[in-house]
Amino acid sequence: MRSLAAPWQTGCWLTVRGNKPNMCGILGIFSPEPVAPALLTGLHALQHRGQDAAGIVTWDGQFHTRKGVGLVPEVIGTDLEELPGSIGLAHVRYATQGSMGAVDAQPLTLAWPPGLAMVHNGNVTNFKVLRDALRQNTQTSLQTANDVELMLHALAAPWRGQSMQRLQVVDIFDAVSALQAQVEGAYSAIAVLAGRGLLAFRDRLGIRPLVLGQRQTSAGIAYAFASESTCFTPLGYDLVRELAPGEAVLVDSAGQLHRSGAGADRGAFCAFEFIYFASPDATMNGTSVAERRRQAGQRLARQVRQAGLQPEVVVDVPNSAWHAAAGLADALNLPHIQGLIAVGPPVRSFLGPHPTARLRTVQDKLQAVPDLVAGRRVAVVDDSIVRGTTAKYITRLLQDAGAAAVYFLAASPPVLHRCAYGIDLPTRQEILANGRNRVQIQAFIGADAVLYQDLADLQASHSDVAGCFACFSGDYPTELSAQTWAALAEDRQLRQDLTAPNAERPL
Ligand code: AMP
Repeated sequence: MRSLAAPWQTGCWLTVRGNKPNMCGILGIFSPEPVAPALLTGLHALQHRGQDAAGIVTWDGQFHTRKGVGLVPEVIGTDLEELPGSIGLAHVRYATQGSMGAVDAQPLTLAWPPGLAMVHNGNVTNFKVLRDALRQNTQTSLQTANDVELMLHALAAPWRGQSMQRLQVVDIFDAVSALQAQVEGAYSAIAVLAGRGLLAFRDRLGIRPLVLGQRQTSAGIAYAFASESTCFTPLGYDLVRELAPGEAVLVDSAGQLHRSGAGADRGAFCAFEFIYFASPDATMNGTSVAERRRQAGQRLARQVRQAGLQPEVVVDVPNSAWHAAAGLADALNLPHIQGLIAVGPPVRSFLGPHPTARLRTVQDKLQAVPDLVAGRRVAVVDDSIVRGTTAKYITRLLQDAGAAAVYFLAASPPVLHRCAYGIDLPTRQEILANGRNRVQIQAFIGADAVLYQDLADLQASHSDVAGCFACFSGDYPTELSAQTWAALAEDRQLRQDLTAPNAERPL
């Protein structure tokens, strides 16, 4: 249970040894107006990208930070008077509850050089190597287990001994290039350079998303960088464009835009953003996420026909599979009905690493609607099947509600491999499709049929995007050492232990 006191007042839970994947939502704003209200509104719109921790930092000659473990309203509240300034950053962190404390919540600031704050989304795959090198070469020990602290040091390294005010724009972009040359993995980052402006950059392959928006105010143009365009709508910002893989953009203190480094490499944009993670109203790689999901559902129709299945209704697993189910229903000319409903708080259920805790989350969240499904052959669509616990439970729910047959359809191919770039996927042993054939998978889930999206179909539908499909294909876009995999496995085990239902969590 959460403490009644605000998380930033209670201090930390527990800090772990390794770095942790950061599947997050990030936002940075440079404006002629105070930014805290807009940062808060934007964070609400990004809450689906992280429900574990939240934070805001603003700058008005000094940094003002509020952050902690919990949802945005719990952590930030509504009183923003203590967050003055017209430049700032905001962050929500994804479902690694128990693995981190308030000390690891973002944004983070760096004392030297003074005036640097950062948020990021992704996972630095050579974290330990860089952390050890930092300690050895500069006698600097990290205060947190967070990638972003390492990135702050990497960015600031070329500026040691210099005043930030003396830096030229080219010095700032050179520092980003130097960071990109040594920091491996996935990262989209936004930084406040005190007195110099707002800097945003992506890793060379652009694995995680980052977009630029702008808004005309009576006092001039305001700029925002964010994980998803979805938060621009409530803020009144227009989506200008996505940053290219490897690109860095600086909004300087006079409000001028500078850019560098675009298109150095072919990208490897995470396909899971389209499948599950992003909000359906976001535009990514030039297309609406909702539309991509609808097309994925339409493509499933061929497999349903090939398998000779004759569903009477299509049901989605709330909420991420809605558009895929709508696409399938369209293609099969069937009714798309609300045979499953999500109950409880209107937040995305986050599924922690511990299997029992995960199952409980799904049990608490979903109910079948017997009047709609009883006696009917139901094609139920989810965005993905990972361990299969969700699919097994949902199948049972629909059967108990009287469905005549349950066909379980995944709008993505079988997940077979771990993600090294920030999506929280289990070890290979826990992944359902690993080492099991279709008959065994079907027997585990207990459905009358189980179908997956075809990998070739998925790749074809993303042919306009240079994508990363590694969790399906095992084809990773960066070099990954045995040490990286060991660190990821160690961290995951630790989190699994910490999120076990009976685990004691120090407050
Ligand atoms: P599983 O029970 O492990 O098969 O989980 C699949 C379910 O979890 C699907 O309903 C997805 O919507 C959801 N899901 C997929 N990937 C993730 C992820 N990385 N983190 C949390 N939930 C996920």
